Amino acid sequence: MERISWHQYFMAQSHLLALRSTCQRLMVGATIVRDKRIIAGGYNGSVSGSVHCIDEGCYVIDGHCVRTIHAEMNAILQCAKFGASTEGAEIYVTHFPCLNCCKAIIQSGIKTVYYAEDYKNHPYALELFEEAGLHVEKVALDQSYISLKPKDA
Ligand SMILES: [Zn+2]
Ligand SMILES: [Zn+2]
Repeated sequence: MERISWHQYFMAQSHLLALRSTCQRLMVGATIVRDKRIIAGGYNGSVSGSVHCIDEGCYVIDGHCVRTIHAEMNAILQCAKFGASTEGAEIYVTHFPCLNCCKAIIQSGIKTVYYAEDYKNHPYALELFEEAGLHVEKVALDQSYISLKPKDA
């Protein structure tokens, strides 16, 4: 039997987390990894304890849902909350991160970004990643490992 690769294992975890998203404009999941261990995870959702977009609808200003904390931010903030260092860590995300998340990823000391799907890959984000010396690589999810469809989809 062939074991699941680390790439596929962590990428599958991010896709599983994405199913917990409470903002359905884009269901995103992120997993932060250090030394092949998962140290944090996040998905697109509201501030803890606040209303969810899936119940109340999105709060849209200038084309963006302002209620949602992005998956990558939630994962990084989980590290801040529980005191886990992100220096030199890797992040596995279901989609190429938005510009703000890219900046937060760089600033948190994460050195490697694996993403499964291209999503408006911002040229300035790519420029910043290169400038900061991050390794950015597309790792598509191998669907044969796990079927990740929301139940009523
Ligand atoms: Zn929303
Ligand atoms: Zn983002």
